[in-house]
Amino acid sequence: QPVVILCIGMAGSGKTTFMQRLNAHLHTQRRTPYILNLDPAVTKVPYGANIDIRDTIDYKQVMREYQLGPNGAILTSLNLFTTKFDQVLEFVNKRADSLDYVMVDTPGQIEIFTWSASGAIITDSLAATYPTVLAYIVDTPRTASPATFMSNMLYACSILYKTKLPFILVFNKTDVTPHDFAVEWMTDFEAFQMALANDETYMSSLMNSMSLVLDEFYANLKYAGVSAVTGAGFDEFLERVQEATEEYYTEYKPELERVI
Ligand code: GDP
Ligand code: MG
Repeated sequence: QPVVILCIGMAGSGKTTFMQRLNAHLHTQRRTPYILNLDPAVTKVPYGANIDIRDTIDYKQVMREYQLGPNGAILTSLNLFTTKFDQVLEFVNKRADSLDYVMVDTPGQIEIFTWSASGAIITDSLAATYPTVLAYIVDTPRTASPATFMSNMLYACSILYKTKLPFILVFNKTDVTPHDFAVEWMTDFEAFQMALANDETYMSSLMNSMSLVLDEFYANLKYAGVSAVTGAGFDEFLERVQEATEEYYTEYKPELERVI
């Protein structure tokens, strides 16, 4: 069974570049990924996608035809594509025996995938068939202040609780800013409190109580620091994927079978 790696993250966090690097990394190890691109609005896909939403859906035409703005058109394109997702699964099924991974790239704007019916249908149908893990890509340099770090983690937390899938925080762009500060804040509660106290831009008391919520989230969290540009950290990431896959079988799958 291939493992599905669903890449999600804020616009510009580096999902597409991460996919490109992971693809190259897997090829050097002679492990074959199958690649889906679900971003209809991307102009250039820097990896060879096996299935590309743009092959069947013309995002610009959707914009004109339904008189939509960019985000509405991306969502509508994803909806149209989802109606054919059973065919996508058939393509993957046919190749499944020879695959190690299925990698999925998602639209730039995170909420279009994570908070839409289509995103949920795609995620759930993949996770019903294959071990599926979420790779939440974080723009490390842009999350280095306590306030942005906290909001990014709360967002990650909400996605984790919505999907209940194994979750890996991927601190990307470590070539620009190493992710040590993040590891320190996640593992040492007092260190984060100190950083917060020095950050005068936010309501510290509110932040303090919210950071207590996150302590529980961090406790079971897997993370890796990578650079999609230099390729650093990808072996570590794949180790986390391995652990997340085990978690899928021990926690997600039994729950799924119980519900069905
Ligand atoms: P997406 O919107 O999440 O798909 O993000 P992209 O993959 O398009 O990347 C957004 C920008 O971040 C691009 O300019 C990339 O070159 C840059 N980028 C992505 N990963 C890295 C990285 O690891 N290091 C650096 N320095 N830049 C990166
Ligand atoms: Mg992208």
